[in-house]
Amino acid sequence: MKLDNFVELLKMPICDSCLGRNIADILSGYTNEERGKAVRMYVAFLLDSGEKLDVDLANFHGIKFRNIKLQDVKPEKCKVCKKFFREKVNGLAKAVAKKLRDMEFDTFLVGSIPSNEMLKNEETMNEIFGIEFSEPIKSEINRELGKRIEKLTRRKFNLRSPDVTILVDLNTDSVKLQVKSLCIHGEYQKLVRGIPQTKWVCSNCQGKGCIKCKGEGKLYKTSIQEIIEKTLIKAAKSRGSSFHGAGREDVDAMNFGWRQFVIEMERPKKRKVDVRKIERMINKSGKVKVRKLRIVKDGNELIRKLKTDRHDKTYRLEIEFEKDIDRRLLKNLKSLAGSEILQKTPTRVVHRRANKTRKRYVKKISYKIVGKSKLVLTVRTDAGLYVKELVTGDEGRTQPNVSELISNKVKSLKLDVIKIHSSKD
Ligand SMILES: [Zn+2]
Ligand SMILES: [Zn+2]
Repeated sequence: MKLDNFVELLKMPICDSCLGRNIADILSGYTNEERGKAVRMYVAFLLDSGEKLDVDLANFHGIKFRNIKLQDVKPEKCKVCKKFFREKVNGLAKAVAKKLRDMEFDTFLVGSIPSNEMLKNEETMNEIFGIEFSEPIKSEINRELGKRIEKLTRRKFNLRSPDVTILVDLNTDSVKLQVKSLCIHGEYQKLVRGIPQTKWVCSNCQGKGCIKCKGEGKLYKTSIQEIIEKTLIKAAKSRGSSFHGAGREDVDAMNFGWRQFVIEMERPKKRKVDVRKIERMINKSGKVKVRKLRIVKDGNELIRKLKTDRHDKTYRLEIEFEKDIDRRLLKNLKSLAGSEILQKTPTRVVHRRANKTRKRYVKKISYKIVGKSKLVLTVRTDAGLYVKELVTGDEGRTQPNVSELISNKVKSLKLDVIKIHSSKD
């Protein structure tokens, strides 16, 4: 660090912050503005002691000299930041605070794009002074804006996982807010048939509405996601949601087991929602029941866990066969318990999933005849077994299967999830 370099910088109008930023890594506990002021004063001492230095006198406006007579020249805009740190930063912080006014958040982060002009001027400055101890202008902008926003909003600046990220582009003076989703974890039951788990957007029109979807933009009137999100959109003043279930049941199946899910509410304006009240509202739907709703901090980690955790399920199937049931063959079904089931990807999903053979297990099975050709089957399987195909055989793609074991074809079946087992039971 050479004094000459400071003198060189002081040949152009430059503010304390920009001057001090060149030595941001020297001394600690001072702002760059304080560093710059100290340097300016030191040069002023030299000038007043009689040193002849070729500097822009406007840089010493307001300093009282004793020994020399300087013409008091009004300072121009700082050549590097164009008055950003002296003036503009305050107005910008106020504008950001205003934008955040009706938003509930605890923590924020500032990310900025300095204007191209600032970057170019910074480069010129770096060429004069070197960058050994300097700090990029971007960091100082973020920090100075952050400090002011902290004061104005009484919220905390936070680098890791902030509720709101404030993006400032100084080329266009635009402010954008990136708002962290509000993640809510819970468990649901599905009390009706015929609705999917998530909103099923019409693939023909991508949701715009067409003949195929009768202008609805989706293939089902509602879904578990939409029923749950409706109350939450209102409570969190959110735009919409993403829904992540720990697996899903078929559209035509009910579920009386409790299935875990995380719903991510996008761009929420409220974060402190009353989950007990929301539970009650959702449960009024009569179609979906939820419990144990809670707000979670790290939604992504939990979603990953939900997607990878494997749980046994117990299903109840009401099956109607084409012929009367041959009671003598029913005992064959007992052989399924504990046996390995080989399943090729079912015909009904093979168009969207890889065609491969899976090995799954039936752990328990019991049955009850409820009509000449009607059977109720209760079966516990490990995760990922296609239970409908276990019954129908899916044209031989699942082996062994109920249909072949009792030599009777399936006419229709109704499926319910009775229990989603935890790892303990
Ligand atoms: Zn400046
Ligand atoms: Zn459509």
